[in-house]
Amino acid sequence: MSLLSNKNPDKWKNKYLDLLDENEVIEKHHQNKEDLLCKTIIRLTLATSGFNNDLDPYLLSIRNQLKKGLNSEQLKSELDKFSNALMTLDDTDPENSPLDASLLFNFLFHHFPAIKNDFQQIEKKFEKNEYRNSQYLFIAIDDLIDSIQHIEPLDSPAVKGLGINGIDSNLINAQLQHLLEDTEIPAKFELQAQQLKEKLDGNTPLAAVLEETVSLLFQIKKHLQSEQQEMAEFLAQLTDQLTELGIQASGTHTASVSSSKKRNLLDRSVSSQMLELQASSKNAKQLEPLKKLIHTRLADIALQIQEHQSHEQFERNKIHQELEYLTSKITTMEHETRHLNDKLMDAHQQAFHDPLTKLPNRLAYDERLDTELARWKRYQAPLSLLIWDIDFFKQINDKFGHKAGDKTLILIAKLLSQHCRDTDFVSRFGGEEFTMLLSNTDAQEALLTANKLRQIIEKTAFNSSGKKISITISCGITQFTDNDTGESAFKRADKALYKAKKNGRNQCLIN
Ligand code: GH3
Ligand code: MG
Ligand code: MG
Repeated sequence: MSLLSNKNPDKWKNKYLDLLDENEVIEKHHQNKEDLLCKTIIRLTLATSGFNNDLDPYLLSIRNQLKKGLNSEQLKSELDKFSNALMTLDDTDPENSPLDASLLFNFLFHHFPAIKNDFQQIEKKFEKNEYRNSQYLFIAIDDLIDSIQHIEPLDSPAVKGLGINGIDSNLINAQLQHLLEDTEIPAKFELQAQQLKEKLDGNTPLAAVLEETVSLLFQIKKHLQSEQQEMAEFLAQLTDQLTELGIQASGTHTASVSSSKKRNLLDRSVSSQMLELQASSKNAKQLEPLKKLIHTRLADIALQIQEHQSHEQFERNKIHQELEYLTSKITTMEHETRHLNDKLMDAHQQAFHDPLTKLPNRLAYDERLDTELARWKRYQAPLSLLIWDIDFFKQINDKFGHKAGDKTLILIAKLLSQHCRDTDFVSRFGGEEFTMLLSNTDAQEALLTANKLRQIIEKTAFNSSGKKISITISCGITQFTDNDTGESAFKRADKALYKAKKNGRNQCLIN
């Protein structure tokens, strides 16, 4: 009877398919076991690396082989090599100290919690020195791992972290996150960086995240390089602008107090804005906002300097106008002063001179007398006084008219002035009387001068309406003596004049 003749021909088919499914599950389970074993051995080799320098190269070779698969012949050979190396290790090797074994057991307890008790029993045996040497210990551990019946699921905490080539992907993720947090992210990459951080937190495959991170960091580096170049250009531009501002500012000095105050205010404002810029640039993380801030501040400063300059220009114009006004006022005042001075001179001339003969008058004589007396008293140089009086002058007026009399007075005044020394002082004392003060001249010398003048006048031909008039003049002379005043000397000279008249006129006498 064939299987096909069975009442239910699909029964064997179904059984076969079920067996296939079962086999597939077993194979998958077996594959999982194999993968887990691979990873476990890798971790074990990683954990035991560094315990013994002689064993480390074998552990590395085993790890490399495991990456190719568990069943390779090469792996078996590597494991044999490792076992041989273990067997040849010296018992007294300090690398196999109890301390190392405790580290190893701690690692095993942590990574194989399900068989912790079994490992604890091995540890107790090891502590009682029941193993001949450490290689027997490792073989026992190896056997125990091989005999594990219960296989932890692949997503268990002990397995989850293994990534590319057995590397701990959690650790790599953490490192990448750390790297991103430590990197100064420019604004334009912030979103990208945030998304990447989220991926690092999630379950995205490590290879993709790693590549993306490297790409982002590369872009950031390029961006920062171009920003650096831009910054250098910007700084060069900024230097030009600041130099320009410096030139403008240096042209704003003036002497006025109000300008000086404003200048101080400007200086303070510019300094504070510069400090603010300094602080901002120190804290700046982005170039663009800093550039904007600097541009704004420089524009503010330029505006302030411009305002200051126009204010100073206004002040200068005002001062210039005031100066012009004052200059014109001074010019006017100078004119007025000159005019007043001329008037004063005229007034002085009028007050101290005789309008007919232009000789100093009696007032001028009094003034000069005071000066000469003071000098005489100080230096004791001789000083003489002469009083002149025209003889019979009344007759001249009477005979030839008053005008002829005036002309005669003018001519005699001229003769007296012209024929004496510059230091002699001639004045019209009143009517037809004249006085003379001769400094540094005693009475005898004065008499000589007086006679000389008298003779000149006597010889001078006076004409009036074609008629010749003869004119003579008399003179009384005195020399100032101790205790003399102007009056006492005058009286003495006048007495001499009186005597000269009495004696017949046209003569000069000393008293
Ligand atoms: P004596 O020799 O004694 O001096 O005789 P005298 O005529 O000169 O004496 P008197 O004093 O009597 O006369 C002076 C005259 O001088 C009187 C007056 O009219 C005249 N006289 C005085 N001042 C002026 C003047 O300014 N112009 C003219 N033309 N005559 C004057
Ligand atoms: Mg007289
Ligand atoms: Mg007279």
